[in-house]
Amino acid sequence: MTGAEPPELVAARVAGARIEGTRRRGKLAILDLDTGEALVISLRMTGKLLSRSADAAADPYVRGHFIFESGRELRFSDTRKFGRIVLVPQQAIRAESADGARAKGALHERLGIEPFSRAFTTSRFARLLTARQRSRLKPLLLDQTFVAGIGNIYANEALYRARIHPLRSAGSLRREQVRALHQAILAALRRAITLRGSSIDDYRDARGRRGRMQREFLVHGREDEPCARCGHAIRKAWVAGRGTYWCPHCQRAPARR
Ligand SMILES: [Zn+2]
Repeated sequence: MTGAEPPELVAARVAGARIEGTRRRGKLAILDLDTGEALVISLRMTGKLLSRSADAAADPYVRGHFIFESGRELRFSDTRKFGRIVLVPQQAIRAESADGARAKGALHERLGIEPFSRAFTTSRFARLLTARQRSRLKPLLLDQTFVAGIGNIYANEALYRARIHPLRSAGSLRREQVRALHQAILAALRRAITLRGSSIDDYRDARGRRGRMQREFLVHGREDEPCARCGHAIRKAWVAGRGTYWCPHCQRAPARR
């Protein structure tokens, strides 16, 4: 985020405003206000949005809060302070098309296609992969300008589900592998949403509840454990700075050039 405003200025601009809608774009939560502006919230590593009664006990690490007439309060808690809340004109967000284009002034200058949008078809995904054919798949899936909203855990899980090695190049996939990866991305994200996310350390939902996805990881965090499909030990390596897990048997390494 650049050009962050002092909290008191933001507070003055949202005072008395009404939230007219809520949206998500990639990993960003967006609250549309009746002032023509929107609050764009990025939780990052340890951020949490908590919905509490305004007279509820204090939560730790609260960096900001919004008090509603109803007596409820929205608290933004963030242990490590990587999260961000910015106020931007709605126009800047609406200027994007459904299949992902520009979000000027938002936290990300540009976000890729939404996995749950109608535009995210297998053939569209195939074209996107072709356009980035030299890229390694794992870092590519994490690139928010490619597909928006896939984090490290879900990139690991999707590649495992699709039986594709994280270091394969985007252009090397056969048609059926593209289809498998497309389905695997959706399946991994849907399962995580059903289980309300992954609470490895800090994550909590708006009611303060832990997610349950971490109990169902197929490969993430399972270094040296047996693969559920074939029994080979899961491997871990750092790829582009992120912990990457795969089964060396089910996810065959690309041939060396
Ligand atoms: Zn395996």
